[in-house]
Amino acid sequence: SAAEPILSVSGLSVRYGKVEALHNVSIDVRPGQIVSVIGPNGAGKSTLLNAVMGALPTSGHAAGPVRYRGEDIGGLPVEKRVEQGMCLVPEKRELFSTMTVEDNLVLGAYRRKRAGERDFLDQLNPVFERFPRLKERRKQAAGTLSGGERQMLALGRALMGKPDLLMLDEPSLGLAPLIVREIFHIISALRSTGVATLLIEQNARAALQISDYGYVLETGELALEGAADSLAQNPRVIETYLGLA
Ligand code: ATP
Repeated sequence: SAAEPILSVSGLSVRYGKVEALHNVSIDVRPGQIVSVIGPNGAGKSTLLNAVMGALPTSGHAAGPVRYRGEDIGGLPVEKRVEQGMCLVPEKRELFSTMTVEDNLVLGAYRRKRAGERDFLDQLNPVFERFPRLKERRKQAAGTLSGGERQMLALGRALMGKPDLLMLDEPSLGLAPLIVREIFHIISALRSTGVATLLIEQNARAALQISDYGYVLETGELALEGAADSLAQNPRVIETYLGLA
């Protein structure tokens, strides 16, 4: 695609004290694209998302520009990045378990409410249309949802804020294969909203199936990159990440 990247990470390195978790990592995400970063446990995938979001632990130190819509946002705190349309759905989902499904969704619009947007709840019905199961359970406490439903709620809550860049940390983690398919189908369908998605996954097969472009991260460095369909046919990717299943 010829479109300018909405997110451009160039030569990012992150260290935790003496441990270098990322070394010279460069990735681009363009509007409307789904881009995945695949790689094993401990490769640095979560570190990448946290660095892009400005949410590294205080022991973490990042160097190398992160550009969002062409501007270096390296100095911006998390809340400014959120205000500018970036949204991270963390691995742990971080829902409010005693609150209802609907109240969790309303909280997802908090940034827009604070910004004075009168129609800050305008995504509630579209989210319920996208996730009929959330609509059925709207008055149910989030803590009583199944794992797949919790992931749907985390996605729905993110969409309430109308993000331009959605970052998903292992959305398939801990979910049964059928549910993983459902979640990835939903993520794929989000493309039509124009949102750009950066997807971090250990489930390389599912991630590459819905992605436009992919990166392979190994021990903090990019090992391979390419169009998702060609990566999925790369012998090394097949052997290491796709197996024979
Ligand atoms: P996983 O899928 O297991 O979460 P990951 O690919 O997301 O793995 P990271 O969590 O980013 O990997 O971790 C990358 C490396 O940085 C690992 O070696 C990890 O031990 C180290 N690391 C992560 N967080 C910290 C921290 N707060 N302090 C010190 N080292 C850390």
